[in-house]
Amino acid sequence: MTARVAGEDVSLDHWIGGERVPSAGRFRDVSPIDERVLGEVAAGGAAEATLAVDAALDAFETWGRTSPAERAAAMHRIADGVEARIPQLAAVETEDNGALLRSHLRGVMPRVVHNFRFFADWLLQLRHEDLDTRGHRNHVSWDPAGVAVLVTPWNAPLMLETWKVAPALAAGDTAVLKPAEWAPLTASLLADITADAGLPPGVLNVVQGTGEEAGAALVSDPRVARIGFTGSVPTARAIARQAAANLVPLSLELGGKSPFLVFADADIDLAVSLAAEQYDNAGQVCLAGTRLLVDAAVHDRFVELLVERIAGLRQGDPRDPSTDIGPQVTRAHLERVDGFVQRAVADGASVLAGGGPNTELGGLYYRPTLLVGAAEGSEILTEEVFGPVLTVQSFGSEEEAVAMANATRFGLAATVVTSGDARAERVAGALVAGTVWVNCFFVRDLRAPFGGSRQSGVGREGGNWSFDFYCDVKNSVFAPSARGRA
Ligand code: NAD
Repeated sequence: MTARVAGEDVSLDHWIGGERVPSAGRFRDVSPIDERVLGEVAAGGAAEATLAVDAALDAFETWGRTSPAERAAAMHRIADGVEARIPQLAAVETEDNGALLRSHLRGVMPRVVHNFRFFADWLLQLRHEDLDTRGHRNHVSWDPAGVAVLVTPWNAPLMLETWKVAPALAAGDTAVLKPAEWAPLTASLLADITADAGLPPGVLNVVQGTGEEAGAALVSDPRVARIGFTGSVPTARAIARQAAANLVPLSLELGGKSPFLVFADADIDLAVSLAAEQYDNAGQVCLAGTRLLVDAAVHDRFVELLVERIAGLRQGDPRDPSTDIGPQVTRAHLERVDGFVQRAVADGASVLAGGGPNTELGGLYYRPTLLVGAAEGSEILTEEVFGPVLTVQSFGSEEEAVAMANATRFGLAATVVTSGDARAERVAGALVAGTVWVNCFFVRDLRAPFGGSRQSGVGREGGNWSFDFYCDVKNSVFAPSARGRA
């Protein structure tokens, strides 16, 4: 079964062993733009999960033995295929998850291409200096591990899927991808692209369906060698329980409640511009610095300028290039976001901007919201909202700022705005976070480690860290006598 979305034919079936496979059960995929049904997507369960792991295991027999050069060449062909279809992928993804078309065209889809090229190239230069132990040679190799199950979210679907698919395939693993049921379409297009690129059947499989059925069946299959997950903390707990039964290594990239610190010595215009960026993707960004912590000396000025900036943000149809903020992904999510805001207000917080759905636009549009005066320790300051909602608090000293920044169970990212180099070093060192940005935001280099501290994640990916996870890293120790023999 296919659907016509943004002028593209998109298969709504699974992709297993190089073939389209339907399911009797189907679920509705709804566009956040106007809540129209885009298609009825195959809802996989235990049977499809088993079939996909079977196919991936079969394919591993061959793919796991290909040379790095062959795998890298295949990855570059996939990258070429993605690159050639950026406009189509961008348009379909915008219909599917409601994120801005201009971001998909300029940043997100080019990054998908980069994911494949980067891990292809990194694979070819994986090295570890051989260690000498009393004449014995220790040689490290990165061996393929087997079948990787990859479970991903909807907020940047193809980018986050390929952030896992690319290193898994480069490592020589075969993969079963379970995209989020709220934005499943570009994963289906990726399957087509890999087939066109000549990827052998079964190397990449896509099982569509809900987390509770398709996802749970995949992560509990004892034949799986790795589980890569990006999503929320509660789902991570459910997956970790399944993985524990089979002792399968997990990589978990989870949510956050990241702090955004503005010191009195900051370039205030820069601080305001960076703060406004925290509304990107309608606030549906794991890394967003949603807790604005501002030195009391500049608090009022900063707030005044930020409120002005928020008033200038254009909300509307994400296909319109002049739109800054699109819709929330589903009605249930919009209501969840609003619930956080209304409870915060009931608890004493004041609304400086937004504070509810955009009633002029209707649909799933939520106004960019800024809250002040939230009760210390309240959920709006400690739980992830995942919507366009920021809070502002003031601090009196650097020590207090760091203590406030570190006062959640998360540790995904942090942003610091200051003109003091020594302060920047000190504060970056004291923050608990997988990534700290100083006077910048969202600068990502795939060579660098990425992940979360505390409950924001387990493990790191990027560069060697991805290969450490997706491979069975092996140390072979050669006695002196073994040298030179055939
Ligand atoms: P989610 O946890 O609800 O779903 C993520 C995926 O898990 C989906 O594919 C879903 O179908 C699947 N799933 C759900 N229950 C499952 C189960 N029992 N077994 C197996 N799979 C299951 O998250 P979401 O709403 O799609 O995404 C938003 C969350 O993702 C936020 O918390 C956000 O911070 C986080 N996120 C983190 C990063 C990161 O890199 N750290 C990036 C993007 C999003």
